[in-house]
Amino acid sequence: MDLQVVDGGNLGAYKVVDVTSGDVVYRCVRWDDAVLFALGCLSAKAADWVERKRVEAPKVSGRLIGAAHLYVLGRVYLLKGGEDFAVMSEFQDGVVYNVWWPGDGAVPRCTCEDYQRSVGLYGDDAITLHGRVVCKHILACALEILFPRKKEVISDGVASDRAEHACDAEAG
Ligand SMILES: [Zn+2]
Repeated sequence: MDLQVVDGGNLGAYKVVDVTSGDVVYRCVRWDDAVLFALGCLSAKAADWVERKRVEAPKVSGRLIGAAHLYVLGRVYLLKGGEDFAVMSEFQDGVVYNVWWPGDGAVPRCTCEDYQRSVGLYGDDAITLHGRVVCKHILACALEILFPRKKEVISDGVASDRAEHACDAEAG
C-alpha cells in the first residue's frame, strides 16, 4: 500500500490518499494525526512506537512525525552490504542524507544540518532520545530497522543484527 499525506488546501485540512486508487482514506485537521494515521495503515506497531516515543521525549515529537512521514513515503534505503542508509529529504526532492548506523551498537550519525547542529548542544538544549542526538532521518532509520518495509534489500543476518541494536537503543 502506498499512501501520501497531502495538505487539503484552504480548508485547513489534511488528507491521506491511497496513491494507487487515488481514494482519500482519511481526513483530519492536524498534520501529525494524518501522518500517524498513514503510518498506522502500514504498521500498527510502528505507529504505537512513535506514539510512545512522543510521550517519552516531547522535544523529539516533531522529528518523530518527520520520521514517520519519511517511512510512509518509503524514503529510507538500507545500502547493500554496508552500515549506511540513504534517506531522501522529506520535502526537498533530490536531496539525500546519509545515515551511518554501525552494527556494533555505536551511535548513529547523519549528514543533515539538523543533526550537525544538534551534536553541539548540551544540557537542556540537547535534543536527544535515550541520551542520543537524533534527527528525523536517524529516527526514520530506526523505524525501518524495527519495522522493515523494504525487506528485499536487507539480508537476514543484517536485519536481525540491526533490529537487536535498535531494540537496545529503545531499552536504553
Ligand atoms: Zn538527519
